[in-house]
Amino acid sequence: ATPMSIMTATGRGASAGVLIKDAEALERFSKVDILVVDKTGTLTEGRPSLTDLVAPDGDEDAVLSAAASLERGSEHPLAEAILSGARERGLTLADADDFDSVTGRGVKGTVGGKSVLLGNREMLEAAGVDPSPLDGDAERLQGEGKTAMYVAIDGEAAGLIAVADRIKETTKGAIEALHESGMRIVMATGDNERTAHAVAKELGIDEVRAGLSPEDKQALVEELRQGGGTVAVAGDGINDAPALAAADVGIAMGTGADVAVESAGMTLVKGDLQAIVRARHLAEATIANIK
Ligand code: ADP
Ligand code: MG
Repeated sequence: ATPMSIMTATGRGASAGVLIKDAEALERFSKVDILVVDKTGTLTEGRPSLTDLVAPDGDEDAVLSAAASLERGSEHPLAEAILSGARERGLTLADADDFDSVTGRGVKGTVGGKSVLLGNREMLEAAGVDPSPLDGDAERLQGEGKTAMYVAIDGEAAGLIAVADRIKETTKGAIEALHESGMRIVMATGDNERTAHAVAKELGIDEVRAGLSPEDKQALVEELRQGGGTVAVAGDGINDAPALAAADVGIAMGTGADVAVESAGMTLVKGDLQAIVRARHLAEATIANIK
């Protein structure tokens, strides 16, 4: 009866939008007691939109057009927000040279002969640029749950671009249901501490780890497993791939361009957390049947 019920379960899973790799993944998932979730694109819509511009020298458009010109080379959800913000303001964009992206940090390049950096605080620091003149404004925006990106032009902190990303409608209910099925929920995000805590508080998330690189996310998963947990990781991006691979069960969310499907034991077609609740109930029912 074992292979049969697994087949039935994977078939039912597929019709519920959950693609399960094999019987082992399903069985391991029934035992998961810690779920690590990425924030952007997993808890939230992943389609942030521009909310605030800060330019201490007064030229907001210069900050936004430099940033948007760079982001034409990026597929990150934050890039889309910046590009549509620039479009709405009718800004003309330039070509960027020497484009480079640092996963989990930001992007850089040369725009109109000027070197431009865009991303989190660490993105500037790593290039030897002092981000501190912008910290006060960044902290205010983050306290409102917004993601504030730093912009540097020619080695000077030039401004901030803030975006906000709506929490998916199904997220809060799914977290309650996962709590009821005995899971602890840990948010692991590359975004900063303040923004992460504002979102986590709204959702009743148990623990927050912010400012993480893809390798930090992976190390967190290893640490939780060594502590005796059975750990699932849900993420949507290329930056989540190492953590997914390190988990007992990796869960790839949605069908985005950079979905980390290869390292996943499960793939959620629609990519919202409610599908994890359905997968959990299915896994529990199947395993109970086999025993
Ligand atoms: P998350 O873990 O929440 O999905 P990421 O790891 O993708 O977030 O990104 C972490 C942070 O790095 C972002 O909050 C942002 O500040 C910065 N960042 C990453 N990619 C970009 C980009 N293309 N443009 C601007 N900022 C970026
Ligand atoms: Mg993400």
